[in-house]
Amino acid sequence: MARRLRGVAAAPGIAIAPLVHFHGGMEYIPTRAVAPEEVEREVGRLREAIDHAAGGIHKLRAEMTTVLSDRDAMIFDAQLALLNDRTFQAAMERVVRDQLVNCEVALQRVIAEYEKAFEAMQDAAMRERAADVRDVGRQVLGALMERERKVYTAGGQDYIFAADEFLPSDTGILDRRHIRGIVTARGGKYSHGAILARSLGIPAVVAVEDVLIKVQSGTQVALDGDNGVVVAEPGEEELVRYRQLVAERQDVERKVREARFQPAATSDGVSVELLVNVESVRDLGQIELDAVAGIGLFRTEFAFMERRTFPTEEEQRAMYKNALEAARGKPVTFRTLDVGGEKVLSYFRMPEERNPQLGWRGIRIGLDWPDLFYTQIRAILRAAGEHHVRILLPMVSGYDEVRRCREAVDQILEDLHAAGQRPRGKVELGAMVEIPAFVHVMDQVLPLVDFFSVGTNDLVQYSLAVDRDNPRVAGLYDPFQPAILRILRQIANAAAAGGKPVAVCGEIAGDHHFTPLLLGLGYRQLSMAPVFVPRVKLAVRGFSLGECREMADAALAMTSAAAIRGLLRERVRAASAAMLAGSLPGPGRERMSEGRP
Ligand code: PEP
Ligand code: MG
Repeated sequence: MARRLRGVAAAPGIAIAPLVHFHGGMEYIPTRAVAPEEVEREVGRLREAIDHAAGGIHKLRAEMTTVLSDRDAMIFDAQLALLNDRTFQAAMERVVRDQLVNCEVALQRVIAEYEKAFEAMQDAAMRERAADVRDVGRQVLGALMERERKVYTAGGQDYIFAADEFLPSDTGILDRRHIRGIVTARGGKYSHGAILARSLGIPAVVAVEDVLIKVQSGTQVALDGDNGVVVAEPGEEELVRYRQLVAERQDVERKVREARFQPAATSDGVSVELLVNVESVRDLGQIELDAVAGIGLFRTEFAFMERRTFPTEEEQRAMYKNALEAARGKPVTFRTLDVGGEKVLSYFRMPEERNPQLGWRGIRIGLDWPDLFYTQIRAILRAAGEHHVRILLPMVSGYDEVRRCREAVDQILEDLHAAGQRPRGKVELGAMVEIPAFVHVMDQVLPLVDFFSVGTNDLVQYSLAVDRDNPRVAGLYDPFQPAILRILRQIANAAAAGGKPVAVCGEIAGDHHFTPLLLGLGYRQLSMAPVFVPRVKLAVRGFSLGECREMADAALAMTSAAAIRGLLRERVRAASAAMLAGSLPGPGRERMSEGRP
């Protein structure tokens, strides 16, 4: 029987394939009855998973011997001690034998008991160990799931990735030729898992409540990333309809993609720079650089998140050099490490924060840990050579933070000069505009920076006080809100008054409905996931600057997000349809590569 589950549309496209569980939290564990004759097999599965998890910890500990603090080393040792503890193992085996349930459930129950026991302890250090117990549980569960998913993926079949959330470290285990879609129980349209899915061009639906409980591995699924729907066990009729939709979509996409090598200019010839956001050096090879003006945002933390240890300066230099070479002479904007919030490094223990989005993240960590920041800046500047390099500071809130970063960059440039290693190309320093307070001091910061880049994902979350990762308030996260339009206008005006370029690199830059509005407000650089370049280019070419300004004025006069969205959708839909039908003369239909103005 077909079952429809609703979620949030996170990355466009339709996929039809079996769903496979990759990893989940301890709370998403399906219960399965185990027949008495299956008990030994089940216990064997558990033992194997424990050995596998212990092996993983041993390996990580060995890899990190030189960088581990005593405290970190103790954490690994404590986790290994728990895994090898016979009482702990016997408790789980007892649950399987006595209650005749699968070993995942036994793991869940015993971990919950241990956690509770640690949390109730008097000693604060012992209470903290509850987190380690949870982590051990997650690792054993991960090992069990890894084994299970091989049943469905080992033979090179297509599949839909399902998990509690989609993490940057998952990109390493995905078979890019066979993954057709992504569905997660948590997250929102603007959380980093969704951003990653868009950047990989994989259809995705997020925030599908209890998907891991409701849909077992191996179940056939139709996933609609345009409308946020997942249909488990679709009927024949539904499958035919989805297959038809896939075919129609491919047809439109083919036509849209034809626009990608045309110049990014309005119908009256105003040039716009379209740039791409990248998350991983691995993705660089797949970017059609002739269609864009460069890399507008390299989220370096994602490259850090794919690893199991901190990259050294030399390793970072090699990574940035690869990126610069892959960009073939076009500028690359390296954003310095923006961890914190929901972006965590497995090898960097962050403090538990009650409200991590307002906590220790972005440049705050860089300034508290100068070694980290200096090493990264040095690595970028040493990789620069002749290339055009832009360094972008995340989550800055005011003058002092930017000044300290500027001084650090200048100092490192001087040191490199003295060592004969100074970059020979253009080096620019820029600031992300994503904390609302920063908007009001942009005039003060102007002398310190060469450019700005608007991070609307965070700007919207902080301006509207809506957590971008919380599905409960996802409906309130709306970049079309009149207040957001006014803030965007204020930023564009502040940058223009100071004569500094300003880009938009948040997700709205890749939403073609926003394109004429952003152009009308004064933006001329838009940086987005590569998959959105053709549609945005089509939207750029579909309007004159005068039309864009008139649309921005009309939108700014409106009082509701729904009305603004309605206006823009209607106008962009009509213009795109006319462009696809070939009835609008774009500015030069010849194929050409983008140049910087
Ligand atoms: C943003 O906040 O808009 C942005 C580009 O940064 P991130 O999504 O990585 O926080
Ligand atoms: Mg941000």
